Amino acid sequence: MTSRYTPPAYRVQGNFIAGQWVDTGQVTMPCTSPADGSHLCDLPASGALEVDAALTAAQRGARDMARLTVWDRASLCTRIGDAINAGLDDLAACLSWDQGKPLAESRAEVATAAEGFHHAAEMVRWREGRVLNTATPGKQVISTYHPKGVIGVITPWNFPINIPTEYISAALAAGNAVVWIPAPSTSLCAAKFMEIMSNADIPDGALNLIIGKGADAGAALTSDPRLNGICFTGSPATGLTIARAAAGKPQLLELGGNGPVIVLDDADLAAAAQAAALGAFLNAGQVCSASERILVQRSIHDEFTELMLAEASRIKLGHPFDPQTTMGPLNNASVAAKVTEHITDGVARGANILCGGRLSPEWNNCHYFEPTVLTNISTESALNREETFGPVAPILAFDDDDRLIAEANDNDFGLCAAVFTNSLSRAQRFVSEVETGIINVNDSSIYWEPHIPFGGASGKKSGIGRLGGVDTINALSDVRTAIFNTTRS
Ligand code: NAD
Repeated sequence: MTSRYTPPAYRVQGNFIAGQWVDTGQVTMPCTSPADGSHLCDLPASGALEVDAALTAAQRGARDMARLTVWDRASLCTRIGDAINAGLDDLAACLSWDQGKPLAESRAEVATAAEGFHHAAEMVRWREGRVLNTATPGKQVISTYHPKGVIGVITPWNFPINIPTEYISAALAAGNAVVWIPAPSTSLCAAKFMEIMSNADIPDGALNLIIGKGADAGAALTSDPRLNGICFTGSPATGLTIARAAAGKPQLLELGGNGPVIVLDDADLAAAAQAAALGAFLNAGQVCSASERILVQRSIHDEFTELMLAEASRIKLGHPFDPQTTMGPLNNASVAAKVTEHITDGVARGANILCGGRLSPEWNNCHYFEPTVLTNISTESALNREETFGPVAPILAFDDDDRLIAEANDNDFGLCAAVFTNSLSRAQRFVSEVETGIINVNDSSIYWEPHIPFGGASGKKSGIGRLGGVDTINALSDVRTAIFNTTRS
């Protein structure tokens, strides 16, 4: 299919270091749109040299940031939020061309980013330290928050504006400087985002952007001793590499998820199917909290499956700029290959494809994957055991609550879950026994607001620490305790 939409002429001026754009010269990587395969621009392919320059700039930036009052830092975040709102149209369009999500989803993502900076401003302004009592007479103990210094931020391509915002807004609010490396396949919209944020009079060196491949630029950043902390969202495998490279440094690692969404026999099945479909197909399923696997009670399996099929049939797969589109293409070839591989493995183990299951033949040069519903899934298949990260809803049936809880927990991941039931006591049991960082009761597993604590359960592959509002600001702050001996002053 040929597209009726034409991308604007994009140009990325280089990396953003010490308050200005720095051209990296000849070494570039191509930027291709997932929407139509068109060449959008060339991007810098930076490595250790550029990371070194950014870290030097960030060390100076961190010193300047540490001198700002909390009020000044809050104003900085407010200005960035305002600049994002002013650039919303341009940034949302760039996000859709670069990532592939429908324009309405891009607009919502950019608006949420502006809100994220505004919220960081509010939260840091009113954050309080502690005064502690002591056993010893004459002591006064005051615990206050201080900046950490230079924070490295490495982000994925699925929410290339919101995920960086979660870290950058909190890092700046806490008085740190940042070196940010976005995912290569969404570095164009990252550069546009940086351009817009740079209108907010950010102190030089406080926020630096380096564009390059993870194995080059990312690896150079995470192993550098000048880093005072690392924030990473991405796959568990890369998370582990980064955890090792940055061993001993403070780390916030937000890694993969694998549902589950659980539907019990007393639930409102239409509402459950609607929410599960939202979780399966939003952003073409490229969401860490997606409905990766749907575990239903056997007695309602057939009725629920019919409702899911009806939901899938309402999805309009199409170009991100077509106003009818509710689901765009996958972002890149490797995610498409993984989705296909998981479905092939599932079918080999007995799964039935009820709809979709393939790349749309209408868009043969891109990765438009049809909304997919499968049943009869083996618990050993990749669809159940691993994160698929595509528009795929695998439905598995089990007899009772004990078995559903056991299957929910028999998994390497533990990020987000959902349970649908009209029984308060059953809901409470699932909340207490399902091993995930977040569980939604009677809503999609993707429901979240950026100030709500978010992260993986301990001992699983879903990450370390909590993101979300003041939790992120605290994670990117050092607590310093001053103990005054008042008998000698
Ligand atoms: P990825 O791990 O392949 O890449 C993430 C980032 O890491 C990219 O910017 C990449 O360039 C960089 N990178 C790669 N190798 C590196 C290295 N050796 N050193 C430093 N950086 C390196 O992940 P992805 O495919 O971009 O993103 C999808 C994954 O992200 C999924 O697993 C998804 O669940 C996860 N995710 C998690 C959350 C969450 O909050 N838990 C949110 C969104 C996405």
